[in-house]
Amino acid sequence: MLERSVRLPPEFESMNWQQATPSSILARIKEAGIVGMGGAGYPTAAKLASGRHYGTQQVIANGVECEPNVNADRSLMRHYLSQVIEGLRIVGRCLDCDQLTLAVSDRQTHREFQSAAIDGVTCEIVDDDPANGEERVLVQTLFGKTIPAATYPSQHGFVVLNVATLFAICEAVCDGYRPTDRVISVIDDDRWVTINTPIQSLDADSSTLRQGSVATGVVATDDATVTLTTNAIARDRSQLSRACIHCGWCDDVCPRSLPVESMLRSLQSCETLASIDAHVDACFECGACVVACPSQIPLLDWIRQGKFEANVTRLKQRARVRFERRNKRESQRVSEEETAREARIQSPPKW
Ligand code: SF4
Ligand code: SF4
Repeated sequence: MLERSVRLPPEFESMNWQQATPSSILARIKEAGIVGMGGAGYPTAAKLASGRHYGTQQVIANGVECEPNVNADRSLMRHYLSQVIEGLRIVGRCLDCDQLTLAVSDRQTHREFQSAAIDGVTCEIVDDDPANGEERVLVQTLFGKTIPAATYPSQHGFVVLNVATLFAICEAVCDGYRPTDRVISVIDDDRWVTINTPIQSLDADSSTLRQGSVATGVVATDDATVTLTTNAIARDRSQLSRACIHCGWCDDVCPRSLPVESMLRSLQSCETLASIDAHVDACFECGACVVACPSQIPLLDWIRQGKFEANVTRLKQRARVRFERRNKRESQRVSEEETAREARIQSPPKW
């Protein structure tokens, strides 16, 4: 069992969820402040409300973990599988859905699941491809259903929740705990870490750290702290990166078939971004290209920078259009006033 520090007493009454109404379960999840712990941080109650609104045919526990040195979900499932399954059943009750699937990339968890002979839940093993952890890709992989990029799986009958989120739901509903800690892969070790712990205090070595994995994480600032969405802390490797050798592996692995190498060239040479705006926007930050790159180039840092600059450019363009329209309106008003004044001068009032 992973060692867990002493927690504050539970904040809520424990619930008998089999007897509770779906709306009271939803209210508890909202009250406990549970968010998507796979990285998105989207409020779970809002996602479940959307699932109830559109109708849910399938609830998927996402335990697919394919990034380098990230094993937090794997460790959680190996030590607390029954709570994760309980959380999945609670969500099934909340959404009035009995099709429950646990998706894993870890064969040991799959074996443990099979030997535990758990009723009413299916366990599927998924390839350890970095893109498979993304919920739309996971739905496509498991059920062959394409979820359009501008919509959410919950709008198409699929609700996907990370296994850490399901564990938090189980604790909030069954035991009354608000989530105040989570399992994190810190460098090479998986452990429980309390939320708001300063990230720099987690590694005695004074190297630069990334909040998140080495592939998809961001460089942690000095005052960054652990949040509910932090699944890993890694040492930054961007200083080790070498020049691009044009091998094309980043292009080959991109699940969105983006021209990653040419995007990198444009971003590094500060070319006009207009030609790659659509490409950087289409990137859903799975990190597959970073994992594949033999030169260890922090491709996602470049792409995020490109997204930021594309957004700034769009905002500037919108501001310019507004400014020009305002100027046009203003000069029209001045010209109308001038015309009216001229007319008054031509026909002075009679006393
Ligand atoms: S470009 Fe984006 S979507 Fe494509 S592999 Fe890289 S991170 Fe994933
Ligand atoms: S994988 Fe890395 S080295 Fe190879 S083409 Fe892409 S950016 Fe260049």
